[in-house]
Amino acid sequence: MDRHVSVIGAGSAGLRLARKLAENNIPVTVFEDHAEIGIPEHCSGLISARNTETLGFDLKDSFTNTIYGAKIYSPNNTQLRIESKKPVAHVMDRSLFDKTLYQQAKKAGAEIVLNTSVMNVKGNTIFTQSKGKGGVKKADIMVAADGVNSRLRKVVGIESKASDFVHSYQVKASGNFDPRFVELYFSESFAPHFFAWVIPENESSAKIGLGCKVGVNPVHAFKKFLKEKQIDVHIKSDNSFLIPCAPPIRTLTKDNMLLLGDAAYQTKATTGGGIIMNCKSADILATSIHDHIHHHTPLNEYEKRMEPIFKELELHYKIHTYQSRQTDAQLDKLFLKLKDAGMEHFLSNHGDMDEPSRFVSKMITQPGIISLIPEAVKFALIK
Ligand SMILES: Cc1cc2nc3c(=O)[nH]c(=O)nc-3n(C[C@H](O)[C@H](O)[C@H](O)COP(=O)(O)OP(=O)(O)OC[C@H]3O[C@@H](n4cnc5c(N)ncnc54)[C@H](O)[C@@H]3O)c2cc1C
Repeated sequence: MDRHVSVIGAGSAGLRLARKLAENNIPVTVFEDHAEIGIPEHCSGLISARNTETLGFDLKDSFTNTIYGAKIYSPNNTQLRIESKKPVAHVMDRSLFDKTLYQQAKKAGAEIVLNTSVMNVKGNTIFTQSKGKGGVKKADIMVAADGVNSRLRKVVGIESKASDFVHSYQVKASGNFDPRFVELYFSESFAPHFFAWVIPENESSAKIGLGCKVGVNPVHAFKKFLKEKQIDVHIKSDNSFLIPCAPPIRTLTKDNMLLLGDAAYQTKATTGGGIIMNCKSADILATSIHDHIHHHTPLNEYEKRMEPIFKELELHYKIHTYQSRQTDAQLDKLFLKLKDAGMEHFLSNHGDMDEPSRFVSKMITQPGIISLIPEAVKFALIK
């Protein structure tokens, strides 16, 4: 018998899931409260080249730039330069990327209902609102992929707190940029608990932004950042959103309801990037739902299969915690030690923006590591 799946939210997570379910002939409807997919845009659109390939993303309509490395600045401007001969990441237009995911999901047979907000769910019933009119729909399985401000997280019994998020402000700006490198700037003076970034789309256009702890005004912080770093640009557009910055939620299932994407904090706490991890999670969830329907495995098999992703996201959170506990003076010293220990060369060869477990343990075998042992101990002690 057909079991109907409803997905709440047509972002990258919800649309990837809908496509995968529809490709497996599982009837699926996605509800999206906005009238247009991908609008408003709330992303820098930076994704790793390695996982773009693994996940088979189609970037032909949304592609804007290829990145070969990162220049990372300490508070007093010590630079770590990580550089590769091969593409490390792609920058894409996130709205167009979501539109591609939408077309793929529709082509596979998913039904996508725009302009419809899900107000609540109870049992098999979904309460919707569209153009001021209430409605009721039925589903056997429901997936909350409703983003960082998820209303449905509570239904799974998860209460969020302000410290689970950072507040971001990002602009699109024209100026002079090095199109091969992203730039990251750390300082508690303008980006407490996070960092500021410049992500070039080409030589003359970039997405520039920062994240800071909730309670700090991100617009004021951003102006301070531009002034302190003497970055001179012409701002064309801006936006401000929350980014999850917490360990991933491990309880993802309650009865017939499941959590996915930013709603489940499937976001890298080191960078705020969520697309790769939430699409990988969507693929795992699609297989778990398929096996539940066809082989009667419990729905919470999803949580077990997520274990490798949980481990990576928890490691991201540990690195973030370590970084955010450093004072500016400590960070300045750390950058010098990392340089002396040959970490620029090491990270250029072994770094991975999605899966830190691929390089963290290898770091210990580096010849210059002795001076970093006290830091390694501090890091190891973080719970
Ligand atoms: C400034 C900024 C920069 C970022 N840069 C990057 C980056 O460079 N790379 C990267 O990988 N990630 C980046 N991210 C993170 C990335 O944008 C998110 O991780 C990703 O969008 C999460 O996808 P999602 O599908 O879970 O949620 P979303 O993309 O937020 O989609 C959720 C959807 O649900 C809809 N919705 C919400 N509530 C309801 C409801 N009740 N009923 C119906 N629909 C509803 C929303 O309208 C939305 O369309 C950035 C985030 C920010 C804020």
